[in-house]
Amino acid sequence: MKHIIILGDGMADWKVKELGDKTLLQYANTPYMDLLAKNGRVGRLKTVADGFHPGSEVANSSILGYDQSKVYEGRGPLEAASIGVELAPDDMAIRCNLICIENGNIKNHSCGRLETEEADVLIKFLQEKLGSERVHFYTGIQYRHLLVIKGGNKHLKCTPPHDVPGQPFMPLLVKPEIPEAKETADLINDLILKSQKLLADHPFNKQRVAEGKDPANSIWPWAGGYRPNMTPLTVTYPQIKRGAVITAVDLIRGIGRLAGLRCINVEGATGLYDTNYEGKAQAAIEALKTDDFVYLHVEASDEAGHDGNLKLKLQTIEDLDRRLIGPIYEAVKNFDEPVSIAVLPDHPTPVALRTHTNEPIPFLIYYPGIEADSVQTFDEIAAVDGSYGLFEGDGFINEFMNN
Ligand SMILES: [Zn+2]
Repeated sequence: MKHIIILGDGMADWKVKELGDKTLLQYANTPYMDLLAKNGRVGRLKTVADGFHPGSEVANSSILGYDQSKVYEGRGPLEAASIGVELAPDDMAIRCNLICIENGNIKNHSCGRLETEEADVLIKFLQEKLGSERVHFYTGIQYRHLLVIKGGNKHLKCTPPHDVPGQPFMPLLVKPEIPEAKETADLINDLILKSQKLLADHPFNKQRVAEGKDPANSIWPWAGGYRPNMTPLTVTYPQIKRGAVITAVDLIRGIGRLAGLRCINVEGATGLYDTNYEGKAQAAIEALKTDDFVYLHVEASDEAGHDGNLKLKLQTIEDLDRRLIGPIYEAVKNFDEPVSIAVLPDHPTPVALRTHTNEPIPFLIYYPGIEADSVQTFDEIAAVDGSYGLFEGDGFINEFMNN
């Protein structure tokens, strides 16, 4: 049996008055999810362990069975894995935004629209001027880059720059959480201040200011950690000889790579409602011909949830069903080797709240010959009666892989 997990990021939601007190999964027209739920089995999964924030990196790696108390290292190391930077055991990897500072305040966390190619020029310039045996800058995507500090201490209090628009940056500089981290905090703060001097005079930023655009005039490191000690899925589940991850999101790509999966890039996969659903479905079908396991992640529903856009989120759920789950189901049912399909969100992103919650999510599992339970539709409410009950930890992935 081969296995595919289809993940609609942030797809779960709350009951919405405008929808007659239905959730979006209840209200949306989703014939394929409902068919798989009806012919398969359903349950709920706690994807965010107590004490952890409901980030996508936490929820997605929990779905794959990783115990966050053992592997959680934050974004930096996952982004390092995503862009292919190998970390030595004493390397601390930390997310490094290019941000815009105006009159001593953080104007924004992303300098508006910054293209990767533009940012690459600035990151290479910083590496040339500030890089050393210990300090390495790596280009990531758009405004999201990476700083690796050899021998860095990760016990730092950093501020995510998107949380503090308009605030003075000086009081928000990095602080040590333990005395041993003071040297690293001092080093990073020195890099921030030096980057501001260097970037202010860079021709790219002078040009941007002349054009009335926000200059990328400071680095802002946050979320540092070490390489997570993640056992590859091929070791935990020897029936996986080869597996793949398909996603537009760097954090998920990093988790996939650390879990021992190969990354498949799909042209036109944007992470938004206009993503290439058909291309992602086709890539998954092709991967299932050569691989035993595919993790197919679609970000669109989460973004619509963050935008608080009910209509758009409904559309992303219906698109996932009709343009992605449907074609995959229709293709793999003719495979010689049966394919087990799981569909689930990683966490709710309620449109009413516009951010993630840590409530349990519904999941379905379907494969040819599975004994169906009584649940007829795929949604948060029906899943309460699912025969799997409520799983936590690696309960879902163990059930999915071993049956
Ligand atoms: Zn998510």
